[in-house]
Amino acid sequence: MRDALGYHDVAQIRTTQMLEFALPKILPTFVYDVKTMAKMGENEGLASPDRDYIAIREDVWEGARGGRGRDAFTLAHELGHLILHQSENLLQRQGRGDPAIFCQPEWQADTFAAELLMDIRKITPSDTPHSISRRFGVSIACAKRRLHNLQRTGAHITNEPGRKFRPSS
Ligand SMILES: [Zn+2]
Repeated sequence: MRDALGYHDVAQIRTTQMLEFALPKILPTFVYDVKTMAKMGENEGLASPDRDYIAIREDVWEGARGGRGRDAFTLAHELGHLILHQSENLLQRQGRGDPAIFCQPEWQADTFAAELLMDIRKITPSDTPHSISRRFGVSIACAKRRLHNLQRTGAHITNEPGRKFRPSS
């Protein structure tokens, strides 16, 4: 997705520019709105995947434009819903009980946003939450979670030349 949007060579994605300019190039039907707090209420963002539509609350849009990591993450999260949760991609849950975490749409959109904003190919073994936060323009909390998840899942991070950064299996 990152490469398709033209962000192969940059670390930090300007998320407002992504929705304004980069996304419409690969998804011409995409429409977004910046809406007032009165209209959005508690919702920082809303995605309507079947209409290729995203609404972002104005304070969140301004925050993302100004480089506030938490707000940038919200824009990427809504893009996650747009891409992942088109009705043809929705899977009906079978059986009883709570769905596994990775089947939950909020988890999926968060994971999409983390993968998109913090490119594993640009993360090295010497990275810290602070270096990740600076390089990718995300919050410290978000960077910490990314590093924690990479370690927890045994992702293989290497910056040796000629080798790709990819999760080991
Ligand atoms: Zn969501």
